[in-house]
Amino acid sequence: MKVLIATQKPFAAAAVKGIREILENAGNEVVLLEKYPGEDELVAAVADAEAMIVRSDKVTARVLDAAPKLKIVVRAGAGFDNVDLAAATAHGVVVENTPGQNSNAVAELAIAMMIFMCRNQFTPATGSEIQGKRIGIQAFGNVGRLVGKKAEALGLKVLAVDPFIPAEKIAEAGAQPVGSVAELYASSDFVSVHIPATPETIGSIGYDLITSMPKGAVLVNTARKEVIDEAGLEKALEDRPDIKYVTDVAPDNYAALQEKFGLRVFATPKKMGAQTSEANVNAGLAAARQIVAFFTEGCTRFQVNR
Ligand code: NAD
Repeated sequence: MKVLIATQKPFAAAAVKGIREILENAGNEVVLLEKYPGEDELVAAVADAEAMIVRSDKVTARVLDAAPKLKIVVRAGAGFDNVDLAAATAHGVVVENTPGQNSNAVAELAIAMMIFMCRNQFTPATGSEIQGKRIGIQAFGNVGRLVGKKAEALGLKVLAVDPFIPAEKIAEAGAQPVGSVAELYASSDFVSVHIPATPETIGSIGYDLITSMPKGAVLVNTARKEVIDEAGLEKALEDRPDIKYVTDVAPDNYAALQEKFGLRVFATPKKMGAQTSEANVNAGLAAARQIVAFFTEGCTRFQVNR
């Protein structure tokens, strides 16, 4: 089978080596398309591919139209909002992600971001500590659970909400379940956001939730910028000069936010949550193994477009 690895932002060399080994040992041919300038190059490269591994690369309807032999796309990572699922399904293409493979990297970044904001972006002004505070985990999936564990170890009280995980399971994992997203925000000194970007969640965190947070609260977003209502965030930061916002990756109105709110806002210039060598290798190798399992055993365990 011909497997295309299409990465505008390439995997680390060690990951590429490991991915190649797994795929080639199973009899596949590997084609590498790295740092390509735009969709035209991806459209050309995908013409005879039967499988594709991507990172944040956009797999649009046009790309899928240009790939008549394609059977499977694996997004090496957790979020899969960069793949047009409806178009993939219409073409009979299986889409998978590699859940859990980069979660620790993202969870460590979330904790680092909390402390960074509490210490005024590492400037000398008097800061605050995280120990003894309450953290609300919004969506208790792979990343959320790990943030909870790490926060607990650092002496925070952990609250969590997830519409698809029963309260008992959240409690078993060591967090205190709360009844609603509104209750989570109103009760948490930090809220760490881990919801996926879906039609229901896009723009769902806005003025009302943010201004309901206690005095001195910090909103930490390592999920997707799209889940934030940016106008609502801006107004909330205006009306509540005690609140801070930190995010991986920059909102569209970041320049305006920086100018108005200075050290109270921080955004990474490029999404970097999963950008560790460990996560890079884990997600890449998992993607390669999933492609081999798909072609040899018909395994679709991680399919997201059922
Ligand atoms: P996950 O799939 O393990 O967990 C997501 C959780 O969200 C699940 O527990 C699910 O029940 C819950 N959920 C699903 N739909 C929801 C909805 N409509 N409202 C509220 N909750 C909902 O994913 P994860 O690995 O924990 O990652 C979480 C998100 O973080 C991803 O979707 C992705 O967007 C983002 N992410 C960012 C980076 C980064 O580099 N910053 C890296 C990995 C993941």
